[in-house]
Amino acid sequence: MIRIRPDLEAELRCPRCGSPQSGGALVWQGVHTAVRTRCHACAREFVTDLPVSHARHDPYTIDVTSWAWHGSGRGAAWLAEPFVEALRSPAADAPSLQIERMQECAEVVVLNCLDFLYGHVLLKLLNAEAHLLNGGPGLVVVIPRSFRWLVPDGVAEVWSVDLPLRRGQHHFPALDAAIEAELGRFETVWLSEARSHPRLRDIRRFTRTEPHDFSGANPRITFVWRDDRPWWPWWVPGRFFRNRGVRKVGAWVQTARMVRLMRCVRRRLPEATCTVAGIGRKTRVPDWIEDRRVARPDDEAERGLCQVYSESRVVVGVHGSNMLLPSAHAGVSIDLMPADRWGNLAQDVLYQETDPRMASFRYRFLPIGVGIAELAGIIDRAASGSNAFRHRMVE
Ligand SMILES: [Zn+2]
Repeated sequence: MIRIRPDLEAELRCPRCGSPQSGGALVWQGVHTAVRTRCHACAREFVTDLPVSHARHDPYTIDVTSWAWHGSGRGAAWLAEPFVEALRSPAADAPSLQIERMQECAEVVVLNCLDFLYGHVLLKLLNAEAHLLNGGPGLVVVIPRSFRWLVPDGVAEVWSVDLPLRRGQHHFPALDAAIEAELGRFETVWLSEARSHPRLRDIRRFTRTEPHDFSGANPRITFVWRDDRPWWPWWVPGRFFRNRGVRKVGAWVQTARMVRLMRCVRRRLPEATCTVAGIGRKTRVPDWIEDRRVARPDDEAERGLCQVYSESRVVVGVHGSNMLLPSAHAGVSIDLMPADRWGNLAQDVLYQETDPRMASFRYRFLPIGVGIAELAGIIDRAASGSNAFRHRMVE
């Protein structure tokens, strides 16, 4: 944790000359929690990342005179360049900040979950568990409003920001001022490190949904849908699917492949309930596949999806943040890995299994090009073999 009130305890150095900098106002810009700084030696002003969240590894400093960025260059396309743009052209409007106060505290730790990516917001929020288990100062969670339903019980305050993800890379000076005014109520304020993939002990704290019960019969097999990164039989770069027309074609191809897969699964597991769930465009599927997709999720729909994942003996889907909640609730999760995503292995999995032998059974990664018949065989063995595996390997 980094103390930000009554004074900032970070060591700030000028990226040009290395001299110590003096810190000023905080900047809450989506993925960045930063501070305005000044180097007296260079007579220049900067906005400097505080070492939290993704800036723990790749901090950037923006020179607000020249608009040059300083940093490692890693992730510059999404960490540095949009940061420069946001600071150069701040948004004039003020996203509303709704304050809920559950506990009176003089000292708090602020967990900033604002971001422009669904997976980032969710993963940052999971840091709340460690703060709550460790005790310490009251926890203040700053969160986009659409994630409010996932905030666990026991936090001191929730600050919900009316900020859609697509605007999560903008800078709102009015939001900085509103947050600053709220921070003024406390004697001491710490900033959570907000790790980008914290350990998660119990997903129930967040979704209030029980994880999968292996003792139940009649397994549900669920394909996790996402139409911006479809299950495509050969390698194509992810950006290919940003085009709407291409995305439509992707949805058809994904539907055809998913239906073929479920046919193969049903031949092997006649008693299984075949389901497609997740977020995105509805395409036509046969009646024997339960269609639980939602076009625009709200709290109710997301809770319903978690229930579907929890009832699923196996979830299978293309790698991405769409797999986070399914992997946290299902019995077995199978990640179909596009060739260009192996460097992001397991970033979309919320491990709930503590025994490494069972974990090897429950969390699986396959190339996206895996044959449909072979995949159906893997799903069959995963759905029907969990108790035998546990018996042989663990008990
Ligand atoms: Zn300097």
